[in-house]
Amino acid sequence: MSHRSAIYPGTFDPITLGHVDVVQRGLKLFDEIIVAVADNPKKNPMFDVATRLEMVQATFVHEKRIKTISFDGLLVNIAKKHQSIAILRGLRAASDFEYEFQLAAMNRKLDADIESVFVMAREEYTFVSSSFIREISSMGGDVQALVPAPVRPLLP
Ligand code: ADP
Repeated sequence: MSHRSAIYPGTFDPITLGHVDVVQRGLKLFDEIIVAVADNPKKNPMFDVATRLEMVQATFVHEKRIKTISFDGLLVNIAKKHQSIAILRGLRAASDFEYEFQLAAMNRKLDADIESVFVMAREEYTFVSSSFIREISSMGGDVQALVPAPVRPLLP
């Protein structure tokens, strides 16, 4: 059977255990997951793209089937370049749906060959988001249990 690769794009500002769970589910469906860290300067990230990429790399350092890249520009072009057949995304609550639906429709318009695939993380991560991690940790709250070990020393 052919090698099946999916690309998992995101801002990962920072990567959380919700993201990790999505990747692990993706590995059940695909031979390879490429975690693609979006440069996204418009989003005004807390961590620069190099740091976000390092955190992702360190999180998955022992998993040979996970590749990590950073990117800017059109996602479908990056997916094609890496011969990914799918875009992997995660869904939490219904509130994610509208945005993800639009994004998937737009990506399909741009390249009809690449399928968007959605997985749901474990229930205990449904409330976990990077923005929640940033906000709580900057106010002194303890969110260490919700992020992978390489992120912990970098949180305020
Ligand atoms: P983006 O800026 O592209 O939304 P994120 O890093 O915030 O980047 O999220 C990347 C993807 O991971 C999105 O599809 C998002 O819905 C999904 N995701 C993030 N956290 C979780 C979680 N706790 N459970 C399921 N999916 C999640």
